[in-house]
Amino acid sequence: MLVVAAHPDDAEIGLGGTIALLTASGLKVGIVDLTDGEPTPHGDPATRREEAQRAAKLLGACDRMILGFPNRYLQDTVEARIALAEVYRTRRPRAVFALLGQDQHPDHLAAAAIARHARFYAKLSKTDMAGEPYYPPLLLQYATSHLRRVLLPTAIVDISGTFELKLRAVLCYETQFGWRRDLLLDRLTTTAKFYGAKIGVAYGEPIFSPEELPIWDPVGLLPR
Ligand SMILES: [Zn+2]
Repeated sequence: MLVVAAHPDDAEIGLGGTIALLTASGLKVGIVDLTDGEPTPHGDPATRREEAQRAAKLLGACDRMILGFPNRYLQDTVEARIALAEVYRTRRPRAVFALLGQDQHPDHLAAAAIARHARFYAKLSKTDMAGEPYYPPLLLQYATSHLRRVLLPTAIVDISGTFELKLRAVLCYETQFGWRRDLLLDRLTTTAKFYGAKIGVAYGEPIFSPEELPIWDPVGLLPR
């Protein structure tokens, strides 16, 4: 599995509980950040990278790469699509988790488009791109949205068992949240409880599918 983010911390905030569940089950999950997330008021590139690696390790991710496109000014360019398509072609993930294209942050909107378009580019033949043609069979989306509205997911993952780990991973980003820790914890907890309540569990994480969601294992749909 490959999680594509605009900034280091997007993956943890939107999908941290699910990533921890996937890695705990033995699946390999990689994270790709399209930018290094800097500059920010209290961060610097080296510290942000160190925080990102620490958070990824905590969630059990097998690796994390930062592609180095410009933070704040991320654009859905051919160059960005090709760079990410090469990651798809060489890593060949069974599923890609991309940012949801409903957002107020321009970088998040660009990242959503890049992740989607890179999927199409990745299958092209007769190109100079690294790796062999490959089309990731499943594209799902997660929300780290600045949009002030309730987002209606396709499905909700029960992250009751990994919610604490998710919070710890997010708090690795001291440069981003150390000075507003209580506010962040309150927001993440409220959101996770809201989505959890919709499926009758303590904490939930919303997942979105831009295409019809295939069900390969109907037995796995049954409540535990
Ligand atoms: Zn972000």
